[in-house]
Amino acid sequence: LDREEPQHFGAGPAQLPTKVLQQAAKDLVNFNEIGLGIGEISHRSKEATKVIDDAKLHLRQLMNIPDTHDIFFIQGGGTTGFSSIATNLETAYLGKTGEIAPAGYLVTGSWSQKAFEEAERLHIPSKIIFNSKDSDKNGKYGSIPDESLWEDKIKGHKFSYIYFCENETVHGVEWNSLPECLQNQDDIEVVADLSSDILSREIDVSQYGVIMAGAQKNIGLAGLTVYIIKKSILHNISKVSDDQLFEFGIPITPIATHYPTIVKNNSAYNTIPIFTLHVMDLVFQHLLEKGGVPAQQRENEQKSASLYSALDSHPDFYNLPVDKNCRSKMNVVFTLKNPELDSKFLEEASALKLTGLKGHRSVGGFRASIYNALSIEAVENLSKFIKDFAEKNA
Ligand code: PLP
Repeated sequence: LDREEPQHFGAGPAQLPTKVLQQAAKDLVNFNEIGLGIGEISHRSKEATKVIDDAKLHLRQLMNIPDTHDIFFIQGGGTTGFSSIATNLETAYLGKTGEIAPAGYLVTGSWSQKAFEEAERLHIPSKIIFNSKDSDKNGKYGSIPDESLWEDKIKGHKFSYIYFCENETVHGVEWNSLPECLQNQDDIEVVADLSSDILSREIDVSQYGVIMAGAQKNIGLAGLTVYIIKKSILHNISKVSDDQLFEFGIPITPIATHYPTIVKNNSAYNTIPIFTLHVMDLVFQHLLEKGGVPAQQRENEQKSASLYSALDSHPDFYNLPVDKNCRSKMNVVFTLKNPELDSKFLEEASALKLTGLKGHRSVGGFRASIYNALSIEAVENLSKFIKDFAEKNA
């Protein structure tokens, strides 16, 4: 079960720690010497319940999740989150206030745009607070407008929730902190998609109503999504009857994504992919052993600084479309000033075993995704290649 350490910069599913995969492979055949593999046991057995409880405990430790918040897992990915957030959170607002209000979306790239479109498609009242393309100098995703330009659209207005994507995986745009107008706001539920930057840096979970993250970048295999939710939101959802939803024209949430039902059944209302969750828990344990999120954050800062400085050192050769104040520490997006060299760049990188660098089909160019599991050494190798390639081909 050995392999040469990969240097795979793909945007996801992403490379995972080899040690984790080796343990998972063993557990797939014979879990804890019980003579059955982890994927062959009932999701309600004591072994499976322990995996669920351990994963929750370890995530709580890693993210300092306060008692005010619950953790649960649902089959599916970020896209399942787009719809489940819209219906559950609008229901919660109805339960809390007896009325409905629009959801507000801060759009900074294609994933927050998709989340907004899904809410609209489901007839959840929703509004775009801003679309960063509208104020961008190039009319593209690559910037986040200053808070002073949009905070008035939030302050003093009623919203069922305010949604944003903390790291836009395709465009390489990351919020480096929670906007001030969303901090310490008792009457605004902040909802964030952390699919591509969860556990990459420290955040204050108490500020969020809901955090949602698909597993397949920083925390595991595709197939499961993590949710961290304020208990009061669960309570407010539970208060609303189907008749009331009908009366207000709000869609009823399908049972498989109805948050209070999932939490009441400790994430095993239906068959949870327990192998996938076990891999996630192994990733959590690995991170705890490494020194937790602060240690990982230091590594991520080092990795992203190395790559951006290599690219910035050749401004006539590389183009970085994202403003410095919102450059992603997970997905480094760049293009060559001379696109005729694109295939040569990929071929030479691949000859050095640096893979997965092609940009998203909607953006083109290149994207180096440097998630938690990618080593500093792999990133240093890429930085060196970036500099060498520019020097040879300028
Ligand atoms: N949100 C973000 C930030 C993503 O990067 C992705 C996928 O890459 C998604 C949501 C959608 O996730 P999924 O493909 O698991 O539905």
